[in-house]
Amino acid sequence: MKQKVEIYDTTLRDGAQAEGINFSLADKLRIAERLDQFGVHYIEGGWPGSNPKDLEFFQQAAKRKWKNAKIASFGFTRKKGVAVEDDPQIRMLLDSKSPVVTIVGKTWLLHVTEVLRVKPDENLAMISDTIRFLKDQGKIVVYDAEHSFDGFKDEPEYALATWRAAEKAGADVICLCETNGGALPSEISRIVAVAKSKLTARIGIHTHNDCGFGLANGIAGLEAGADHIQGTINGYGERTGNCNLISVIPTIAFKMNRVGVPEKSLPKLKELAEFVDEVANVRHDTRQPWVGQTAFAHKGGIHVHAIERVARSYEHIKPELVGNHRRVLVSDMSGRTNILLKATELGFKLTPEAPEARTITTKVKEMESSGYEYEAAEASLALLIRGIMDHNPELLFTVDSYHVSMRGDGGASTCEATVKVRVGEKTHHTVAEGDGPVNALDGALRSALAKSFPALKKITLTDYKVRILDGVAGTAAKTRVLITSTDGKTEWGTVGVSENIITASLQALVDSMEYALLKK
Ligand SMILES: [Zn+2]
Repeated sequence: MKQKVEIYDTTLRDGAQAEGINFSLADKLRIAERLDQFGVHYIEGGWPGSNPKDLEFFQQAAKRKWKNAKIASFGFTRKKGVAVEDDPQIRMLLDSKSPVVTIVGKTWLLHVTEVLRVKPDENLAMISDTIRFLKDQGKIVVYDAEHSFDGFKDEPEYALATWRAAEKAGADVICLCETNGGALPSEISRIVAVAKSKLTARIGIHTHNDCGFGLANGIAGLEAGADHIQGTINGYGERTGNCNLISVIPTIAFKMNRVGVPEKSLPKLKELAEFVDEVANVRHDTRQPWVGQTAFAHKGGIHVHAIERVARSYEHIKPELVGNHRRVLVSDMSGRTNILLKATELGFKLTPEAPEARTITTKVKEMESSGYEYEAAEASLALLIRGIMDHNPELLFTVDSYHVSMRGDGGASTCEATVKVRVGEKTHHTVAEGDGPVNALDGALRSALAKSFPALKKITLTDYKVRILDGVAGTAAKTRVLITSTDGKTEWGTVGVSENIITASLQALVDSMEYALLKK
């Protein structure tokens, strides 16, 4: 039997501490539902004592059915000099009705005497009273031992005494927290191993990423004997973030041969990471390990050649296992192998011997030398390949003319674009306004085309990037525009290059709409 690891998600509490992340009540509920479906074991919803929104979350959560996860509320050990049953913060935790209560307490003598200003024995009593009281109320209790590693390094006997107090009071998990994020993986291993040898309760690990070791330290903890790990989706968290569960989950399954979430959830990992980013309104990290867009991207002829033969030769796992996929990047480093793979990926049947293969390679190189870049513009590349494969197929539409103008009146300025497009025998002429020239042009083009192609109404522009390319001496600098569009299900990139930013943008927009019409 594979050894089990409990996955404890704190995206909604520790993750929500991150700068720029703000979850509404509805966001929190949506994320919790998704985490539950995915199969994490615990979802920490927040600290009911901190704000009404967290309290409301627990009221809502108590009414719902959770399939896999147990909901945890978060709070502190009782105040000094107050009986636990009279502590209003502890009452709030009970009122939250969550089946799990996570209690944070002090491990580091420095914090006990200097920050909390209580006697060492009083701190031990605060830990045990709180846990025992909650156990008597029938709760599952996770004890988060704050500053476990700094505390142990300073005063090992005292740190151990706090963990023992928690264990004796009945804590279900003693989670050692690396609160300041400054420890090395070797220190984590050593101290978790000590805890494991001295305690019988389940040991957990909670780490932060201040030195870039958030994930490494979490894994070191698991290797040293912990079987409960706390972290956040995409590593959100205060300062530089928490241990990233999106990396923890596949590491447990594919590298450690242990069981975390159900096996059937693993191919939905990328989707989960992206969903939480969307709700948090955070741009996906393209270089995110396992699930990022570039995680299985290959560039360079020989390398790509090898991938084609034996994927294992340059990939640590199959990308599909975590819902990702292999991408072949086209660049001026690329040989014919890259183009062939890319063409296949885009759904064209092309053999290396086909004369089109050479034509496409030559054309791509020519375009790249004049400023185009296809790495993030696979839709434009698909159109280029199609053009050569189908020997200049008939165009779905042509832009006959366009005009863009801008006017300012006092503070605000508005752009207006007019576009004339031809679709078969028909001509459509439309005007649109926008807060910028590209926005106006996009609006005008879309509404002109929507008359013949209603499906285009669903397409939206999600990103727009402009780069000025250095002009060769004596020539004007060129502008490269990269556009990302979506139909709500998939995203695609297109590119345009011109001395004029509007012309470059129009090219990219036209490609985007043409691709949208052809892709299904
Ligand atoms: Zn934390």
